[in-house]
Amino acid sequence: MLNTAYCYMCDQDVDVIIKKEVEAYSIKGTDVSCEVENVFCQKCGAQVYITMINDRNLDCINQAYREQNGIITIHEIEELLERYDIGAKPFAHLLGWGEVTIIRYLKGQIPDRIHSDTLKTLNDPRIFASIFNQSQHKLTPVAKKKVAEALQSLNEIYSPTTIKVNNLLAAYNSQPDIYNGFTQFNLEKLIQVMLYFALVEGAVYITKMNKLLWYTDMLHYKRTESMAITGLSYKHNYHGPTPKWYDFLYGSLQDVYITLIDDEFGTKIIPLKDVPTTSLTEEEMKVLDTVALKFRGWNASSVSEYSHLEKAYLENSHNDFIPFTWAKELSLN
Ligand SMILES: [Zn+2]
Repeated sequence: MLNTAYCYMCDQDVDVIIKKEVEAYSIKGTDVSCEVENVFCQKCGAQVYITMINDRNLDCINQAYREQNGIITIHEIEELLERYDIGAKPFAHLLGWGEVTIIRYLKGQIPDRIHSDTLKTLNDPRIFASIFNQSQHKLTPVAKKKVAEALQSLNEIYSPTTIKVNNLLAAYNSQPDIYNGFTQFNLEKLIQVMLYFALVEGAVYITKMNKLLWYTDMLHYKRTESMAITGLSYKHNYHGPTPKWYDFLYGSLQDVYITLIDDEFGTKIIPLKDVPTTSLTEEEMKVLDTVALKFRGWNASSVSEYSHLEKAYLENSHNDFIPFTWAKELSLN
């Protein structure tokens, strides 16, 4: 810690005291207040200037001004360069700005409002990509290649499919417990199970699929006495057991793995692609075969009525999650 410095008034090295003080500044016509550190001579009380602390205060004021005015920060500009794998000079060329503009901003100069707003919109890779597509001739072949590759990988991260799937994973991610059959949510297996049933029957109504999934998980739990397959948890609902947030579930998979079609009987799930059941174990496949064979050709309300006779259903109240402890009472073996 610093406790001595040179005081001009006393003309000697003195003990100093550092005080945190809120000060108001006017920057580009805007008032900004900020907590800064001021250093005082212990002997005469005069303010003492120490370069390091002064620089820190200026950074702090600069940061406060940006925050209060929504001006992009240095860190955010650095993130843009990193995300699009582009240097400060090529970036300025691409935007049609002076070559050193971005470099100056990185050194602390506050961007004007228009430049700041432009930079902020470039957070969206689609906007950056459209500028890149128009102006890529301004870049060297090497710089162009790097940006194109960065955009390619961002394209995958930001694709509607990836966003949907990530939302789904985030929503269903939960600790293994008795309500999900002590099984971590496994999207890959869930999709394979669902498409397996949909392919067996050509199309399956959502109300029937809900039950097929439940029987599959319960039966696997019963046979292994320890684990389900998909990691979904199921609620006691009017028409039988249903996976948690099943509308959201099927909606998220729509146009990616399945198509949903409404008719007078309900909503039908139609597989969009043939997904190989490679991640399922032999034991899991046997469970699927048993459930598919049992309910093949049954309409949704027959499966629903059948599920109403299961102890797991009878013994739980409406809207409650059904614990997998009931698996041992399941009618299927
Ligand atoms: Zn002094």
